[in-house]
Amino acid sequence: MQVAFTMLENKDELIENLRTYLDEVCDRLAAKFSLFDCFGRPRKAFIADALFRFGCLGCIWKTFTQLRMLRNEVDCIYMEMHSLALNILSGALMQMLNGRNLNVSCEEADNFGRSDVVIRRTGFQAVVEADGVNIIVEVKTGKSISFAQLFRYLLQHPNAILVVWRVAMRQVFTLSGEKLKNLLCIYTASAINRGLSILNGDVAACQHSIGVELYRRIENLQLILENFFQGLTESLPMVVAVVAKTIEEVKR
Ligand SMILES: [Zn+2]
Repeated sequence: MQVAFTMLENKDELIENLRTYLDEVCDRLAAKFSLFDCFGRPRKAFIADALFRFGCLGCIWKTFTQLRMLRNEVDCIYMEMHSLALNILSGALMQMLNGRNLNVSCEEADNFGRSDVVIRRTGFQAVVEADGVNIIVEVKTGKSISFAQLFRYLLQHPNAILVVWRVAMRQVFTLSGEKLKNLLCIYTASAINRGLSILNGDVAACQHSIGVELYRRIENLQLILENFFQGLTESLPMVVAVVAKTIEEVKR
C-alpha cells in the first residue's frame, strides 16, 4: 500500500480512509488468529497496538499467538489507582472550569441545553470537550507509556489534543492531533502494510523477545502507593493547568 500523502490536500479524508482500512485489516486478523473478546467482538485495540508497536512481523505473529491470553492479568490495584486518579481529576477540572464562569456539564450536552464545556469519563480517560475540540486526558499510573496506544487514540480522534498525565512521574505532556497528522498517516500506513503481510502469510520467525510481562505479585506495594498518592497530590495542579491552558487556546 502506497500513501502519497504529500499530494493529498485533505488529510482528514486520508486519515478517515486509513482508519477504515486498518479496521478491516484488524477484522481479518481477528478471524485468522481467533482474537475475540468474551462478547465475541474482535479485539481490535490489541491487534492494532501490535501492528503499530512492532516493526518486525515475527514479533507481531508472536503477539497474536502467544500473548493473547495474558491481557486480563493486571493487578486490580492498578485499575483502582487509575480510577481514583480519574475521579479526582474530574472533580478538579469541574472546579477549575466553574471558577472561570464557564458553563460545565458532566454528560453529553445535547439534551441539557448549551454547555461551554462538557466533561465525560470514558472507561480509561477523561474527555473535555470545548468548542467541538476534544481534549483527552490519558492517566498513566505506572512508568510504562505506549506511543502505539496514543497514536491509536489519535487515529480515532485526529483533531483531539491528548494530555498524558504520568501520575507517579509527576509529568504532563500533550500531543496535538493537528500537528501530528503527517506522522499519523505514515505510522498507520505502515501498520496496515504489516497487517496485510501477515494476512498474506509473509512471516519469518524471529529471535526477538517481545517483552512478555508475566503476572507478578507486587512486592513493594506500600512504596508504590505512597509514591502514587504523593505524585497525585503534587501533579494534579499541573495537569489541571495544562487542560485550562489548552481550553483557552481552543477557545481563542
Ligand atoms: Zn521480531
